[in-house]
Amino acid sequence: MMMVTELVNHSISDAEGLQAERLRELHRVLVAPHPNVEAAYADVIATGRHILDMKIGMISRIVDDRYDVLAVGSDGEIDIRAGDSFPLANTYCAEVIARLRSVSIDCAGDNTFLCVHPVYLRYGFESYAAAPVWVNGRIYGTLAFVDPRKRLPGFGEGEVEFLEMMATALGRILERNIADRDRRLAEKRLGEAARLFGTAFDQAPIGMALVSTDGRFLKVNRALCRICGYEEHELLAIDFQNITDPEHLQTDLSLLEAVLRGEREDYRIEKRYIRKDGSLVWAELSVSLVRDEDGGPLYFVSQIQNIDDQKALLAELEAQKAQVEDVNRRLERLASTDSLTGLANRRAFMARFEEELARHEALGKSLCLVLIDIDHFKRFNDHFGHPAGDEALRRVAEEMANHLPTDCLLARHGGEEFAALLTATEIHDALARAEEVRDAVAGITDLPSPVTISIGLASCAPGSGHDDLSRAELIAAADEALYCAKEAGRNRVEVARRPKA
Ligand code: GH3
Ligand code: MG
Ligand code: MG
Repeated sequence: MMMVTELVNHSISDAEGLQAERLRELHRVLVAPHPNVEAAYADVIATGRHILDMKIGMISRIVDDRYDVLAVGSDGEIDIRAGDSFPLANTYCAEVIARLRSVSIDCAGDNTFLCVHPVYLRYGFESYAAAPVWVNGRIYGTLAFVDPRKRLPGFGEGEVEFLEMMATALGRILERNIADRDRRLAEKRLGEAARLFGTAFDQAPIGMALVSTDGRFLKVNRALCRICGYEEHELLAIDFQNITDPEHLQTDLSLLEAVLRGEREDYRIEKRYIRKDGSLVWAELSVSLVRDEDGGPLYFVSQIQNIDDQKALLAELEAQKAQVEDVNRRLERLASTDSLTGLANRRAFMARFEEELARHEALGKSLCLVLIDIDHFKRFNDHFGHPAGDEALRRVAEEMANHLPTDCLLARHGGEEFAALLTATEIHDALARAEEVRDAVAGITDLPSPVTISIGLASCAPGSGHDDLSRAELIAAADEALYCAKEAGRNRVEVARRPKA
């Protein structure tokens, strides 16, 4: 009895020892620092062959209907090597892939179907045990062990379980390997992108800066240092507020806050920076915000272009434009003004006359034309000389302007003739004004001799039947009245009785 118990205990501890070894080996394979995936394959195959006592181990990759050999391990010569490829259907593993679970064969030659299997016929493998390898949730390939020897007794449950766990471990190793490769690739790409960005940033011809949300310079390029006249480390120690012209600071800050609040994507302004030497530089600033994955603000990207030259050019162009406009205004004034008296000249009078006539017709208000001629002016000239005559013309013009409404159009119409246009004025009011003017001129005392004027008046009044007179007709009518005034002895005002039709 005693002996039996001891025997049982012994076989239990044997089984436990085997199980413990399998687990140890599994764990070792999983954590071993394999330098590359080939070393991991070799380790898995060697461990499996040892634990399962099989001559040959093989790892395959299954793609579509192909069985590609990734690694082979055997204790003798074998006509299969890594890189070989077979139709999946011609392998024992076809069954593993079809059932998506482990498969074991103890004696292929004893099996009616397997004894004519291409693998059996070619290699004579009697025993076989394989499990699917899963990588990232997908079938990747198989871990298989074969042996020309029959398996007697057959594969045990613990052995199949170990094989399945090895296949799972191999899957984890491959997943780690793929993840490592992806990470290294991503890191490489990231490194390249960072290098590219760094170069582009640093060598950009325009100023660039990464700016914190509170305005500190986080990164600046050489062009920005040149624009602002600061060294890189000096800019990195301050914020953009320090070098912004106070005049532009508020606009800049408000726009920045609008971007932070998400009210706008970006902004672009023209602003002045204060250089280190205190001088100001005009720049065009474009700002956009970089956010993190959750939309939180990270930093601003600013592009700063020196537009000092453009601004100077623009200012010069504007000054030139103002000059040209000024000259044009003066030319226009000269072209429409009589230089002696400062009144409108005949050309300007005629143009305005035409406009007023059209307006008067539209308004339905009467309009009076006053023609004025200095009496015996030839005699005055002959007597006192031309310069005195000029002075007399100036004084007469001045007196007339003083006694006519300010909005009335008064012009030098010819040599010693003047014309005035009284808009929206009834003829009797115009007559009173004309008399006043005539009186004022006759009252001039600061000339070598008194001068008098004769005046002819004509009007076109709405409803009078003469409201559609042309400019020429109105002038002819006033001229005739003036002639009458001369005829009647001068220093008089005459009203055209009947407009010429
Ligand atoms: P009437 O009373 O009939 O108008 O006689 P009048 O001598 O004024 O008329 P007339 O047409 O014979 O002479 C006009 C004179 O006006 C001739 C010219 O010497 C003088 N005159 C015209 N323009 C100017 C000017 O710009 N300066 C000066 N000093 N005289 C001028
Ligand atoms: Mg005359
Ligand atoms: Mg005259």
